Amino acid sequence: MNLREFGEFKLIDLIRQRSGTDPAVVRGIGDDAAELTLAADEHLLTSTDLLLEGVHFRFDWTDPKSLGRKAVAVNLSDIAAMGGTPRFLYLSLACPGETELEPIETFLEGVLAETAAHGVALVGGDTCASPGPWVISVTVEGSVVSGRSVGRGGARPGDVLMVSGTLGDSALALAHLQQDRRPPAPLLKRHLTPAARVELGQGLAGNGLASAMIDISDGLLADLEHILQASGCDALLDQSALPLSDVARQLVGEHPEWLDLVLGGGEDYELLFAVPPPQVAAVTALAVRLDLQVTVIGGLSAGSGAMRMRRTDGQVRPLHVSGYDHFCRSNSL
Ligand code: ADP
Ligand code: MG
Repeated sequence: MNLREFGEFKLIDLIRQRSGTDPAVVRGIGDDAAELTLAADEHLLTSTDLLLEGVHFRFDWTDPKSLGRKAVAVNLSDIAAMGGTPRFLYLSLACPGETELEPIETFLEGVLAETAAHGVALVGGDTCASPGPWVISVTVEGSVVSGRSVGRGGARPGDVLMVSGTLGDSALALAHLQQDRRPPAPLLKRHLTPAARVELGQGLAGNGLASAMIDISDGLLADLEHILQASGCDALLDQSALPLSDVARQLVGEHPEWLDLVLGGGEDYELLFAVPPPQVAAVTALAVRLDLQVTVIGGLSAGSGAMRMRRTDGQVRPLHVSGYDHFCRSNSL
């Protein structure tokens, strides 16, 4: 059965039935607006992302379940980058009327698997027919104890720059797909189902360990530049410190030009954060507790956003942003 036969209201009802319950939700799916509660000392964090078929994903590269998981994870990552706890999610979906119910249900399974993994409640959204591509808009609301969120502008000269996980895996996978080559499985997994570093973000913020933080969605350099410009700092990165997975390290060894994908490729959904040196040991201890890798990749000095890197040959060279800009690059996959 396709969506035209099934109908909008039955689809919304199906989503409502599967969305579960949460004590903080006074009214969820089924009314004109969601009614939610927050604790008295909490602030609300809100973030939204748009995923467009042909721009952000293609069904010959992803399965609907992974797509559902990723649509949620990339939003949770924004709440993680503020140091918040993701709580409520809104899912707006436009698909062609001929779309079969089955991929929609599988997509929804992915959405709900990812929300359940983080204790997030699906509380609303919007549904409509698309004349062409799928359009998915996800909004997430999170909570943070007032005064504890971490923005982009708090880094100070002398802070070290740290990053979670490994860089470039997703971009290397995408480069393979774009060249009609099968990406190595661990890289493809990072591209299709990124993991939001929610507990790390919470731990860094809750314990006052990070002075500035951002999630890497547009590429290390593009996102670093946001921190630098907001904080009034320059950065010096150490190439030999960049954390690469074994597979990525081998690929970059064979194709040195692919280092650009590590620096600028994007969709890592790792956290990039500045840390005052006395706090580095506590950050490392937190990461060990969470079974996550964190790495010092450079340091900050007073400035206005300049980036340089000490190359493996010892030379220090300027770096320029090569991250993704939707209006400056070809906007199809
Ligand atoms: P309205 O006409 O007031 O926009 P809708 O019929 O679009 O109402 O939505 C009815 C309810 O279903 C609302 O609570 C809305 O948030 C929810 N809803 C609609 N589409 C979705 C969706 N794709 N996912 C989750 N909830 C949805
Ligand atoms: Mg509506």
